[in-house]
Amino acid sequence: MAKKFICDGMLGRLCRLMRICGIDTEYSNQGIKILLEARREGRIILTKNRRLLNQESTFFIEPDEPLSQIKEVIDKFNLHKEISPFSRCLLCNEKLKPVNKESIKEKVPYFTYKNFDEFAQCERCQRVYWKGTHYQRMMKELKTILDKKIG
Ligand SMILES: [Zn+2]
Repeated sequence: MAKKFICDGMLGRLCRLMRICGIDTEYSNQGIKILLEARREGRIILTKNRRLLNQESTFFIEPDEPLSQIKEVIDKFNLHKEISPFSRCLLCNEKLKPVNKESIKEKVPYFTYKNFDEFAQCERCQRVYWKGTHYQRMMKELKTILDKKIG
């Protein structure tokens, strides 16, 4: 079973990076309620809240910089093999489904439609993803810290 995570309110950017890597990660800015949410779904809590330090299944995130944070999480939980970029919605953590180019023609800018061939869509929020410049920049950053060929 792949490990699942939940980030606290101070780790929004880490949460986004985890989703970019395709790792199942929820986000909670409901303070201490994160404990209930984590238990209900069997998630490991990633937190900067020292009050949660002694709770079970909680991992305290020391670094402040998001790229250092994700490196720490990936090393600590040995997630290298689970990294699968372009597979999870950055907004709702849902898995993405590859979609036919024709089917999203009306949903993306013409330039994008014309210049990219590989698209994926979130089944929950319908957002369309493609490997544009933003994606490429993120992958480049991640590669420098993960020391591994990804994407
Ligand atoms: Zn979505």
